[in-house]
Amino acid sequence: MTARKAATTSRSKAKSKKKTTSRVNKSSRARVATKKTATRKSSARATKSSSGKTTGKSTTKKTTTRASTKSVKKKSGITVPKGKYYYYFGGGKADGNGQMKDLLGGKGAGLAEMTNAGIPVPPGFTITTEVCTLYYENNLAVPDEIDRELEKWVGMMEKDTGQKFGDPHNPLLVSVRSGAKFSMPGMMDTVLNLGLNEQTLHGLAEKTGNERFALDNYRRFISMFGNVVLGIDKEVFEEVITKKKKDRRVKQDSSLQTNDLQDIIKKFKQIVKRKSGEDFPEDPWDQLRMSRDAVFRSWNNPRAISYRRMYEIPSNLGTAVNIQTMVFGNMGNSSATGVGFTRNPATGAKEFYGEYLVNAQGEDVVAGIRTPQPIIRLKDEMPEAFKQLKEITTKLENHYRDVQDFEFTIQESKLYMLQTRAGKRTTQAAVKIAVDMVKEKLITKEEALLRVYPNDLDQLLHPGIDPKAKYEAIAKGLPASPGAASGKVYFTAEEVVKHGGKDAAILVREETNPDDIDGMHAAVGILTSRGGMTSHAAVVARGMGKCCVSGCEAIRVNTAKKQFQVGKLIVKEGEVITLNGSTGEVILGKVDTIDPELSGEFAQFMTWADEIRTLRVRTNADTPGDARKAIEFGAEGIGLCRTEHMFFAEDRIPIVQEMILADTTEGRQAALDKLLPFQKKDFKEIFTAMAGMPVTIRTLDPPLHEFLPHREEIEAKIKKLDSKDDDYEEDLARLNKVLQRIEELKELNPMLGHRGCRLGILYPEITEMQTRAIIEAACELTRDKKKVLPEIMIPLIGHVNELKHQKEVVMRVANEVINKYKIKKLDFLVGTMIEIPRAALTAAEVAEEAQFFSFGTNDLTQMTMGFSRDDAGKFLPFYVEHEILPKDPFVSIDVTGVGQLVRMGKEGGRSARPDLKVGICGEHGGDPQSIYFCHEVGLDYVSCSPFRVPIARLAAAQATIKQQGAAPRKKASARKKK
Ligand code: PEP
Ligand code: MG
Repeated sequence: MTARKAATTSRSKAKSKKKTTSRVNKSSRARVATKKTATRKSSARATKSSSGKTTGKSTTKKTTTRASTKSVKKKSGITVPKGKYYYYFGGGKADGNGQMKDLLGGKGAGLAEMTNAGIPVPPGFTITTEVCTLYYENNLAVPDEIDRELEKWVGMMEKDTGQKFGDPHNPLLVSVRSGAKFSMPGMMDTVLNLGLNEQTLHGLAEKTGNERFALDNYRRFISMFGNVVLGIDKEVFEEVITKKKKDRRVKQDSSLQTNDLQDIIKKFKQIVKRKSGEDFPEDPWDQLRMSRDAVFRSWNNPRAISYRRMYEIPSNLGTAVNIQTMVFGNMGNSSATGVGFTRNPATGAKEFYGEYLVNAQGEDVVAGIRTPQPIIRLKDEMPEAFKQLKEITTKLENHYRDVQDFEFTIQESKLYMLQTRAGKRTTQAAVKIAVDMVKEKLITKEEALLRVYPNDLDQLLHPGIDPKAKYEAIAKGLPASPGAASGKVYFTAEEVVKHGGKDAAILVREETNPDDIDGMHAAVGILTSRGGMTSHAAVVARGMGKCCVSGCEAIRVNTAKKQFQVGKLIVKEGEVITLNGSTGEVILGKVDTIDPELSGEFAQFMTWADEIRTLRVRTNADTPGDARKAIEFGAEGIGLCRTEHMFFAEDRIPIVQEMILADTTEGRQAALDKLLPFQKKDFKEIFTAMAGMPVTIRTLDPPLHEFLPHREEIEAKIKKLDSKDDDYEEDLARLNKVLQRIEELKELNPMLGHRGCRLGILYPEITEMQTRAIIEAACELTRDKKKVLPEIMIPLIGHVNELKHQKEVVMRVANEVINKYKIKKLDFLVGTMIEIPRAALTAAEVAEEAQFFSFGTNDLTQMTMGFSRDDAGKFLPFYVEHEILPKDPFVSIDVTGVGQLVRMGKEGGRSARPDLKVGICGEHGGDPQSIYFCHEVGLDYVSCSPFRVPIARLAAAQATIKQQGAAPRKKASARKKK
């Protein structure tokens, strides 16, 4: 691979890597909060689309001013602002409402809203996210003033339920659950059955007449508390149960008898004593306070931090804590627990969707320990509860005007709702649901367009399995998250992380758990042998847009041996499999894939985006193939054709090298003459593919050494030459010459030497040849009555005289060619890239010569920041992680610095030439945040790689909607055509 090609490839690889790194690094504020004395100075809040992603808009606001009116006396080492920190819900009324996600978290806000709507919700209260902030500021302790109120609020629950917390005869048991503004499924902690001790255990047994049930809850509570609050490994408790089942020769936990459970409880308590050095706390108030604090701490557990990094959730938001009356899905066969969605979150189909387990507690469903039943079976098993569930959830969807993801418990045939929130969905589902909801008149087109995060469209543009491909599936599981992926299998998250960068890796697990989050992120696909469509693996994979096959029970996973088995077939670590997440098939080896169909709801959705946006979207394309692909994706022209890419083809590179090695203008001209027909042919094909749309062609830009081989390669060849060979002298001279030229052309970082317009100025014959190729191609097509619109772009100018020089060359050759072809009028433009800060600063002068500007923000960032594009990777990730920079400026435009130059450049340019066409063609042209900025600045177009064109179209539409707010929008036809 040639150097430039390698550089470009590595640059684009680095870019996609950077994207990931940057996403991961963006929430490095987590680190601040991770430190025990968290200094949560600001609460930059990100707005979030319903698909669950933050859209990055942030407003800075002092957390402590939110509820404060005046400060009360210092009691806890910090000043506690006076305010409301507890919000009650119960008895048909709630203090809060669905809008209060900042303060109550998604769960708390949902519970309040449901209570107010008369939906059966067990009573309870929410401790606000502000308390989480204060907890961290106060050295990991809830300030006394706030802590003291706890009893009052539990008292209200006692009044509503007629039960008493800690009462040995009629105990109130509660759940303690996390709930942040943005849902982070399974990432933080929960404690259930809290309030049980040796006394209340008897009370519960007496009250329910079911000793086994009471014991079952107690053992669950001890292990959950032991794990979440005291940090004891879950497995230690699990081992006791597994051993007991083995001794008793039973398979299910539910087959264990009361004396078995009593023994398990005894052993659990011994574990707690041994591991924590303390007895298991008997006082329910201690249990409650400790659990509350553990939930606050779980905001900063490693998996929550990873998740926030992945989804760009600010780390200073904190979690609320919900304390709620327990209802029991494990009270026998008339009880159940489940989770569901009002529409299918994988496909978007309007169908009731979910799973439940009879005689189980909530965590059993999501943990994937038992494979649950599809929700539709509940219709036969508990028809009354099913009917009510359907009614309530339909009401919730209409109320929130979005798909709801809900949790419910049926206790002895009575239904309770425990949670409702906007359901996470695949992008395919997000688009379908958005389009369907517009048709159902639930939402407007604008709302629909804001419901899909532009970057997520990427998931729809990638291949699925070729229906013509012949393959045999070795097993079939559940189609948990669509798409196809081939990769090498690995059996732990760590191995996937280790290999996932180099190879496509597939994570294979019995079931995933939140600790696998990094491995899931690094994998191209996920396969589990257990768990349903709402198991952890399925939910997280869908959120990430990864293909996933879950509950594939035919495979036996052996993590220790690093293999899985299907019948007699053994698949070992490193072997390749293919997953079809749309059908649930697992296939041995790699299978052919095809591009997706971009019709139906997707096409409809994109049409709405096009109607609304005012910013045009072009593509960066160097080949006719790229150009065609980009048109399929909706590109409206080419914003950058990097001509050097045409020089790398096998049959051209020797000619390019001949040109570089030439010592005289004549020698260079001879090589250029040979290149001309190649370039002309390429341009003709590209113009034809673009059918009259504007095509911006950049003259040669990279330093010439990129076209030569590496020095070491030539040195090795010289060493190998045999002095006895006839051609020895000739070969030696030729290779030495190459060596000498490499030495002469060598550049030091950053790459600011003899490149860009400087090449065309010192070797005008290169610009002449390229102009000739462009204009001849355009003339020939015009003669054939085909429409063409070339825009010749001069790269890397810093001074107007550079442009003047090159423009003179271009115009001279162009006129000569046009005369030669006797074409009456050929429309074409001559413009420049703005990549050097000086060009932006002197834009008014430059615009006297340029008919258009295209901001090359890759170079502009490099030169404004003083970072080399090629080795900034040595320190940029650190900078982002440690918040020296808010984000990677090569991924998302540095609005305050580089952005200022863009703004000045555009304004300066337009002051001299009001009709100056202005666009952007750096990588930022495909980044939604940068696109919002380009819209706001008033550029005419963005240009990005073909696969990012739909993303840019949607981001451009969102920019218009966000800017217009409630204002009536301009008619599409009123758009400027540039
Ligand atoms: C740029 O600098 O932004 C640009 C598009 O040019 P290149 O990446 O080829 O240097
Ligand atoms: Mg550039």
